Amino acid sequence: MKRPKLLEQVLKSLVSKPATVQFPREKTEVEPDFRGLQYADLTKCTGCSLCSIECPADAIKMTSIPQEYEAPKTNPRRLYPLINYGKCVYCYRCVKVCPTNAYIVSNKFDLAGFTRLTSEQFSLSTLKKVGA
Ligand code: SF4
Ligand code: SF4
Repeated sequence: MKRPKLLEQVLKSLVSKPATVQFPREKTEVEPDFRGLQYADLTKCTGCSLCSIECPADAIKMTSIPQEYEAPKTNPRRLYPLINYGKCVYCYRCVKVCPTNAYIVSNKFDLAGFTRLTSEQFSLSTLKKVGA
C-alpha cells in the first residue's frame, strides 16, 4: 500500500466505530430457541432418574432434596437432577426424555464464572420451604 493510502486508512480507523461487538459491555440478541441453561421444576419432577441415565455427558447427578424443602408426594425418594453446567453439552436430551415435562429451558448462555455452576439454586427455588 502506498504511503498516502496507508495514512488515509489509519485516519479512517481512528474515527470509525469498531466493526466488532464490544461483548460483554454490549449485549447481543440471542435467538429465542437457543439452547441455554435448563433445570428441573421440582414440583413436576418425580425423581425417576431417566434424564440422568440418558445424559451423554454424564452431567446429571441424582441428588437428595434437602430436608428443609417440601418435596411433592409424587417424588417419594426425594431425588432431583443436579446438573453440572461445566460438563453439559446442551443437547437437551434430558429435556426431551423427561416423562413429566419437568424441565424449564432458557436461552441464558453467559455462564462463565469463578465458581462451579450447577442447577441447585434454580431447581430448589421451584420448591417451598417447610413451614413457609
Ligand atoms: S442438555 Fe444434554 S448434556 Fe446437558 S444435562 Fe441435558 S442431557 Fe446432559
Ligand atoms: S426425567 Fe424428569 S421426572 Fe425424571 S428425574 Fe429427570 S427431571 Fe425428574
